[in-house]
Amino acid sequence: MRQHIVAGNWKMNTSLEEGLALARDINARVTTHETLKARVILGVPFIHLTQVVELVDPNRIMVSAQNCSAWEAGAYTGEVSAKMIRSGGAKCVIIGHSERRKYFSENSDVLKLKVNLALLNQLKPIFCFGELLEERNNNSHFDVVKNQIKDGLFHLEADRFREVILAYEPVWAIGTGVNATAGQAQEMHQFIRRQIEEKYGLQVADDTTILYGGSCNPTNAGDLFKNPDVDGGLIGGASLKADDFMAIVDAI
Ligand code: PEP
Repeated sequence: MRQHIVAGNWKMNTSLEEGLALARDINARVTTHETLKARVILGVPFIHLTQVVELVDPNRIMVSAQNCSAWEAGAYTGEVSAKMIRSGGAKCVIIGHSERRKYFSENSDVLKLKVNLALLNQLKPIFCFGELLEERNNNSHFDVVKNQIKDGLFHLEADRFREVILAYEPVWAIGTGVNATAGQAQEMHQFIRRQIEEKYGLQVADDTTILYGGSCNPTNAGDLFKNPDVDGGLIGGASLKADDFMAIVDAI
């Protein structure tokens, strides 16, 4: 069954103390929420992970890392493996965020390894992809997105692919205050679902959760989430304020 999800990506923000206070605040609101319609995920910095896991209700909130190593274990100074993340109690990991593709030169070969290791360690990959502004402007955005999901995910067997949460994040909308319109989001999400259907069949396509990310906020979330193929959001800036984040959760 397709799940509706609102996932926060805190990026490299909050001290440990601030992060725990934010997680505590969101947890209190989520656990007392009587009509919660979305599964909530908190994508927190590595050093916050284990403590956030301990303070949230696991039935309502899943904790996610924002990255994992492409290597399994060993002499890779500074890296954090999927196995370590899972051992700390996290259930998900964000893979392929445009900031990692851009600033850390992560390409599809690396992302594929990360996806495999995440799944091997029972972590749900939240796989991000999306086109640059110039790619939308020169009308290659559908091809770009098609190749990103094919190269990063379509090597998986269907039962493995089912574990993945997809997040379409047009790069021009991330952190810019300019979101995709509801029409642009639906058009692309429908296209993505069609690619999944061609590869894995109708049932898998229908069951796959596809999130939208890019300047989603309490004002535009309702319009974006009304789309039949938009199953929730991956939220950056607005996930750092409990009021805004919960307003987006309520927009589902
Ligand atoms: C993100 O970084 O995943 C994101 C969607 O950021 P923002 O909501 O700030 O655009």
